[in-house]
Amino acid sequence: MQRYSLLNLARNALRGNKDWRPAWRTPTPKPGYEVVVIGGGGHGLATAYYLAREHGIRNVAVLEKGWIGGGNSGRNTQVCRSNYFYPASAAFYDHSLKLYEGLSRELNFNIMLSQRGVLSLAHSEHELEINRRWANATLMSGVDSEILTAADIKKLVPRINLESRYPVLGGFIQRRGGISRHDAVVWGYARAANALGVDIIQNCEVTGFQTRGGRVSGVSTSQGIIAADRIVMSVAGHSSVLAQRAGLRVPITTMALQAMVTEPIKPALDTILVSGAIHAYVSQSDRGEIVIGGAADAYNSYAQRGGLPVLQGTIAAVLELFPSFSRLRLMRQWAGMVDITPDTTPIMGLTPVEGLYINCGWGTGGFKAIPGGGHTMADTVAHNRPHPLITHFGLNRFERGALIDEGAAAGVAH
Ligand SMILES: Cc1cc2nc3c(=O)[nH]c(=O)nc-3n(C[C@H](O)[C@H](O)[C@H](O)COP(=O)(O)OP(=O)(O)OC[C@H]3O[C@@H](n4cnc5c(N)ncnc54)[C@H](O)[C@@H]3O)c2cc1C
Repeated sequence: MQRYSLLNLARNALRGNKDWRPAWRTPTPKPGYEVVVIGGGGHGLATAYYLAREHGIRNVAVLEKGWIGGGNSGRNTQVCRSNYFYPASAAFYDHSLKLYEGLSRELNFNIMLSQRGVLSLAHSEHELEINRRWANATLMSGVDSEILTAADIKKLVPRINLESRYPVLGGFIQRRGGISRHDAVVWGYARAANALGVDIIQNCEVTGFQTRGGRVSGVSTSQGIIAADRIVMSVAGHSSVLAQRAGLRVPITTMALQAMVTEPIKPALDTILVSGAIHAYVSQSDRGEIVIGGAADAYNSYAQRGGLPVLQGTIAAVLELFPSFSRLRLMRQWAGMVDITPDTTPIMGLTPVEGLYINCGWGTGGFKAIPGGGHTMADTVAHNRPHPLITHFGLNRFERGALIDEGAAAGVAH
């Protein structure tokens, strides 16, 4: 791998930047691999990277039907945090955030992590009470959390209108929360995995599974049959469709989740603001755009575009909090297909089909989980048992009724 350094950048700049090699190869698929990972999003690429780096399993292919990062990993609003309510979730997401904190150095790729704080607002006494409970629960899980008064919030976010239709009474903040550049996370993992020998094969759709003696033996793809001893599904918005091809039913609902950005402006907001009550969240990107997101659309869909009512509702909500943003022009709007489980907790681990592993159900909040998801899935595949941090996230929890209801900490909170 060509290492990026100040010296290397300067040397290449002087030579007109003509000597850079591609960040990853474009290989033709081999007849077979030890592990095939389906889905070239952040989770699939991170799984392949950690398989090669931590477990020495380098005969790995990532099969992506489009281009890497073309799914939700390149469409999200980049929020990273670990202040989930239940101890199992907090432990997992904090593991992920810790990996994020060292990721630029580890991958030799600037993922632009900016820990500017994620602030959740409370608009009623009841919500404030629930926020206190939530903040205390995360503190007990060892995750940083701080209750803020309305005056603290005004100091932190001077532009906010505290007297809106839903007045702001207070909130809580995770100061280690923030954003990181989503494309960079995908490209950083792809480049590092490629350097360790992983084949990243784009334009290669998996259309079915090959089995022998009750266990998986390969996949059929748009580029032919590829044998594999172990197969990982990391296909976000297509999880239930692909799982069905392996004879599995997964409790997933697929919906469009949209986001939008305004024209870029000078620095105006240096924290991430979330309101569950008015169903919107807002931040400012490093390019200066105001990034706005809200709830998922109310109906099931596999279309990568959202409906107008959610867009309008989300903008109206943000303008209540920031009336001055009404002067901004909206530049772009887009959507991704999110796979939501009944308890809004992911599904990770082994499946009833031997050799087949699943990583899905991230819904609206799996970007923050990419390092943790990849790290624990690689360990799970390498040892054929769930990593200790994901034992509660298995598909079999739905048989046992052992749900982890993170509805309040996920959803619009992202
Ligand atoms: C608008 C929006 C905002 C969001 N905001 C946040 C946020 O702020 N913070 C956060 O933590 N999360 C957020 N999320 C959620 C987050 O983006 C996802 O949970 C995460 O990116 C999932 O990563 P992944 O690698 O599992 O899936 P993806 O990145 O979607 O990758 C799956 C890949 O599988 C490929 N694929 C599908 N079927 C096949 C097949 N048959 N064969 C081969 N390849 C296949 C797809 O093309 C895709 O590239 C947001 C999502 C959206 C849509």
